[in-house]
Amino acid sequence: MGLTDHLDVSAFDPATPPSVDFYRHVNGGWLDANPVPAEYPAWGASYEVHVRNEEILHGLLEASRDDRGAPGSPSRTVGDYFASGMDVDAIAAADLDSLGGLFDGIGSIGSIDDLGVIMLSLKQLGVGAFHGFAVIPDFEDPDSYLVYLGQGGLGLPERDYYLRDDDRSTALVDAYVGHVTAQLENAGRGGRDDAVAILELERRLAEASLPAEKLRDLQLTLNRHRVDDLDVLMPQFGLTGYLRSLGVTLETVNIDNADFFSILDEVLSGTRVEVIRSYLTWHLIRSYAPALPTRFEEEAFDFYNRKIGGQQQPRERWTRVLSAAASDIGEQVAKLYVDEVFSPEAKARCEHMVDDLIAAMGRSVRDLDWMTEETKQEALTKVDSFAYKIGYPDEWRDYTGLVIDRGSYVENRMRSARWEFDRNMRRLEEPVDKGEWALPAHVVNAYYNPLWNEVVFTAGILQPPFFYADADDAVNYGAIGSVIGHEITHGFDDNGSRFDEAGRRRNWWTEADRDEFERRAEVLVSQFSEYEIDGDQKVNGRLTLGENIADLGGLAVAYDAFVQTLNGDEAEIGGFTARQRFFISYATIWRMNYTEEYLRMLTNVDVHAPNQVRTNGPLSNFPPFAEAFSVGDGAPMRRPVDEVADIW
Ligand SMILES: [Zn+2]
Repeated sequence: MGLTDHLDVSAFDPATPPSVDFYRHVNGGWLDANPVPAEYPAWGASYEVHVRNEEILHGLLEASRDDRGAPGSPSRTVGDYFASGMDVDAIAAADLDSLGGLFDGIGSIGSIDDLGVIMLSLKQLGVGAFHGFAVIPDFEDPDSYLVYLGQGGLGLPERDYYLRDDDRSTALVDAYVGHVTAQLENAGRGGRDDAVAILELERRLAEASLPAEKLRDLQLTLNRHRVDDLDVLMPQFGLTGYLRSLGVTLETVNIDNADFFSILDEVLSGTRVEVIRSYLTWHLIRSYAPALPTRFEEEAFDFYNRKIGGQQQPRERWTRVLSAAASDIGEQVAKLYVDEVFSPEAKARCEHMVDDLIAAMGRSVRDLDWMTEETKQEALTKVDSFAYKIGYPDEWRDYTGLVIDRGSYVENRMRSARWEFDRNMRRLEEPVDKGEWALPAHVVNAYYNPLWNEVVFTAGILQPPFFYADADDAVNYGAIGSVIGHEITHGFDDNGSRFDEAGRRRNWWTEADRDEFERRAEVLVSQFSEYEIDGDQKVNGRLTLGENIADLGGLAVAYDAFVQTLNGDEAEIGGFTARQRFFISYATIWRMNYTEEYLRMLTNVDVHAPNQVRTNGPLSNFPPFAEAFSVGDGAPMRRPVDEVADIW
């Protein structure tokens, strides 16, 4: 296999030295030449791969629509789904017919006693009203499923949107009221007064909600409650009976924020029933607006994508239908994709890298100078127990029972949501299936699942510039290697480190080691809290802590694994040493331009720091980077020795 030089020096900004801003040095030319296109909220490496994957699927979607495969085959299901989603005339002609029964049900609510029945219908359709609901493995027994009941019910992205009083925030809240008004008017089911009342209701839910950085604190949010005792939290509404009506047969459920549910009970019993009806009408429309006639879809785009996300124009309809299919029938779509693009050779090379990275994590643990042998042994047991999945599932999800046809698009979407809900409820009676994937395989992403102690990499992300079948190791270890290292390190971040090798929440740390870990993590919190975004905002060092630990550890283990591949061969390629190429490749995958609005939203809700910070933050803490580019003491890209963050 011949190696190709995949690093692109025309993407560099030679005027910015590596010692000042390495992200800009490697990506400045590209960033200047690639402003965010009008159809996107941001534009960067992951978007480029995403769009390439979409283009592959576009042809497959059209072929599936035109050729109709055998009933039940992925191409039949995906083709019918696609045909229904593209039929804008039929969507316009049907108007709101498919939601009529639900609107009637909402309209018939006379008191809080009637609420449970309609809430059941809405939850079965995935509508986010009042609270969140998920079925995932049990944090004490990862071989069984548990129901996780969560705070929720907001139409804006996060609680702080309702509570801040600066001009920009209040203008956005006004725009939200305008948006809710427009959608209620579009449906002929209310107007501005209703929207104002909905905002007041949601603001009370927001006040009762935990902020984003607390919500990711598992010490706070993993709380087991007996279902039969839950009427204590919601005596007026009757939470126990409601959960039983949803089909929750378990003795216990998890509740992230019990106070939220107590206050929800007060809100429900103290709010006029007309307002509750408007609120549920709004959340039903909100959930399905992208599958409704143009006036709903355009209004939803204008508020959520344009005003909050900074995206100026909608993308083409086929991409929107494809995104919907990815969430409704994701594994059917993914199967078409991997049949087309993912080779056994690519899978084998990635497996080899993951093995290397897990071995590097083991070396890192053994070499730590701040951890006692006792804790190290536990950590090594966990490293040795890591499972991984690469490319696509061994067994594809069985969609038996889900009816997808060429009729109503919104009904296809509703039946998909209902099928998913029923599947989740069935799982409460079944052992967990550890072969399952949490993401469709064509999506550009990777994850760590602490409950199964596993890392997962989709075929969708194993593409250039993350992974090249014909690149030198420096390029691949700097890019996908650091992503693999990142996901492995999640097993040892502030949350992952609270789970053991079997995925149970168990404290395997000595007290002194845990204290030292937390002290080192605090260094990262204060470092990242200093990074500014757009002049008037700062990175939330606590919200992004888990990701920052994973980025720093991922860089270190990927670099260590890469150095093992050198075997003394330090020959230059394209004018750079192998070590330099590793870091250039690392910075390349993070290149990203953001619209101002989108970056602002991410700062509020995203557990990841902006990409420039994700590049320069870890590198400025990593001495081998400074050596490779001769970064001197006192330079911005080299933190003083006594300020360096070093955990894994
Ligand atoms: Zn991560």
